[in-house]
Amino acid sequence: MSFRSLLTSFYDLFDSILNIFFPHVCISCEQKIDDSKELYCLECQHQARITDLHQYKTNQFTEHFPTLSHLHSGCAMYFYIKGGRVQQALELLKYKNKADIGKRLGLHYGHLLKKSDLYKNIQFIIPVPLHTKKLALRGYNQSEYFAMGLAESMNATVQTEIIYRRKDTKTQTEKNRMERIENMRQAFYCKSSFDLNDRYVLLVDDILTTGATLQSCAEVLLEKYPNVKLYMATIAIGNN
Ligand SMILES: [Zn+2]
Repeated sequence: MSFRSLLTSFYDLFDSILNIFFPHVCISCEQKIDDSKELYCLECQHQARITDLHQYKTNQFTEHFPTLSHLHSGCAMYFYIKGGRVQQALELLKYKNKADIGKRLGLHYGHLLKKSDLYKNIQFIIPVPLHTKKLALRGYNQSEYFAMGLAESMNATVQTEIIYRRKDTKTQTEKNRMERIENMRQAFYCKSSFDLNDRYVLLVDDILTTGATLQSCAEVLLEKYPNVKLYMATIAIGNN
């Protein structure tokens, strides 16, 4: 037995012991699973296939940003299906205090992105910041956990001190669509002495729906760093 295979067996043994006390669970249905490298149980896995959007420079994701000519590429890990397994995982991540789901998703996706020619040079990862009120309520930013996982497997650095969110006094529901877009445009600002020009930066969020949030984050980033090499990634992409 080589040293390497001995080490692997030792690791597997350690992993099994750890699994007794802290069982690996499916990120969607929370059933116990044996393989720590998997995200889902077998049943959920069938309904949670990862998209291949990261292999195409222009795709369903980048189509959401026709005016953002500086966007190099963008991708989402899953297609969002209402009532599906991914939605279930996202709900646990956002509302049930399961921040580690974000990290596990990021770790998994990061390995794929690192192998893709489009994303292999990413140096910095910026999660879309949450409203301070929401952050206080939830206790964590789910996109930041996704970013942490991605950063670990892509050998990149998470940057949370560049884009900030303004305090929003009026709620979005009181506004019409145009006002919402305008409101979103003013929701973020950039403040940092760090220079991101010519750096490969991945902006991440949990879900892409209209694209208004990522669009305004990208705009404030590009205003401050016109030469930033900008990419985007989300856990899921909606249908609209
Ligand atoms: Zn499951």
